[in-house]
Amino acid sequence: MLLHTSTQPSNNTLKSNISSFFIHLTQFSKSTNHTFYSLIRIADLMEDESVTESMQAEAEQPHDALFLVLAYLPVLELLNMTQTCVSLRDAVNKDVLPWLNIIIERPLSSRLSDEILMKITSKADGKLRSLIIRNCVKITDYGLQRVVEENPYINKLHLPGCTSLTPEGIIIAVKTLSQQPNSLKSLQINGIYNLNKQHLQTLSSCLRTDPAQKKPHPILYHHYRINPSSTCMEKDRIIDVDVCVKCDEVQMVFDCSRGICRQKRDRGSAGCRGCNFCITRCEECGGCVVAEEQEDTACADVLCSDCWIHLPKCNHCNKPYCKRHANQLFSSSGCIGFVCEACHVIAIGDSIWGDNAVE
Ligand SMILES: [Zn+2]
Ligand SMILES: [Zn+2]
Ligand SMILES: [Zn+2]
Ligand SMILES: [Zn+2]
Ligand SMILES: [Zn+2]
Repeated sequence: MLLHTSTQPSNNTLKSNISSFFIHLTQFSKSTNHTFYSLIRIADLMEDESVTESMQAEAEQPHDALFLVLAYLPVLELLNMTQTCVSLRDAVNKDVLPWLNIIIERPLSSRLSDEILMKITSKADGKLRSLIIRNCVKITDYGLQRVVEENPYINKLHLPGCTSLTPEGIIIAVKTLSQQPNSLKSLQINGIYNLNKQHLQTLSSCLRTDPAQKKPHPILYHHYRINPSSTCMEKDRIIDVDVCVKCDEVQMVFDCSRGICRQKRDRGSAGCRGCNFCITRCEECGGCVVAEEQEDTACADVLCSDCWIHLPKCNHCNKPYCKRHANQLFSSSGCIGFVCEACHVIAIGDSIWGDNAVE
C-alpha cells in the first residue's frame, strides 16, 4: 500500500489533507452512533440521494487513505461510511472491492433478513469470496441458496449460530458451491440445530478434496473462546464441527491443553477429547477440569485451580474474573484492587439502605 508520492506535498497541502482525513473520521464516528437507524434503512441508504447536498456542504474531498481502507471494513462500518460524504458513498456503492468479503456480526446480525443479505451480497457482482454471518437468526435456507447461486466462487462460508438455517438447506448450498472445483475451503456451522452424523458425512464428502489428508490441528477451548473463527482453526480444517465420541452428537469438539492428556491422546486413547457438554474446561488454559477442582469465579466461567490462583480477586468475595471478562470489574474506592459487579451492586444497595435508615 503506497501512501507516499514522489513529489513532496507542501505544508499547506499536508495540513489540508490531514484535516480532511479527520473531518471524515469524525463524521464516520458520528455516523456509527446511528447504527440502529442505518440498519433499518440499509437498502435505502445505498441509493439515497437526499443527503447528498448536506454532505457536500460539510465535507471536503476525503484523504486517499480512507479509500484504501474500505476493502478491509466490516459491513456495518462500510454502511456508516456511506453517510460521511458523497465521494466515500460513491466509492462504497460503485466499487466491487469492498464487498468481496462480507462479515456480518452483532449488532447487525439479529436484524439481517434474507432480502437485506441478497441486497448486500449483490454488491459483489457475483464475485463474493467470503460470506461470514454470525448469529444471523433471520437468514433462511431460501436466502442462503439465492446468495450462493448468485455467487458461485464463495470459498469461505461461515454460518455459526444462524439458527433458522437447517442442515438440509446448508447441504444444498454446499453442493451448489462444490460444483466449482476447489471452491469452498472453509465451512463453519456450529450452532445449527439438528445436525447429525449423516449430515456431517454428506458435507464432508462434498468438501473433502484429498482423502489421505492428515488429521487437522486440534481445537483448544480457550483459543476458540477468544476467537471462534481464528485463522489457525481454518488453516487445515474444512468443517468446524465434529462427532463427540462421548455423546455421539455433532458439536464443536475440543482437545485438551494439559500435557498428560495430550500424551494419552498420542497413545491412541480418546482421553478427555469431547464437546463442551461432556467435558468441563478451564476458560483460561483450556485444560479439562474435574468437579472437585472447579473454582468459583465472578463471571461464572470455569477455572482450574492453577489459573484461579494467578488471577487478581475481588476485594469483597475473593472471586477472580477470567481475562475475557476482566473489563467487568469496578475500581475499589480508596483501595488497591477491584470489586466484582455483584459486590458492586450489593454495595450500592447497602449505601441506599443506609441513607434511608439515617432518615
Ligand atoms: Zn459430547
Ligand atoms: Zn486453567
Ligand atoms: Zn484433559
Ligand atoms: Zn465480589
Ligand atoms: Zn469469564
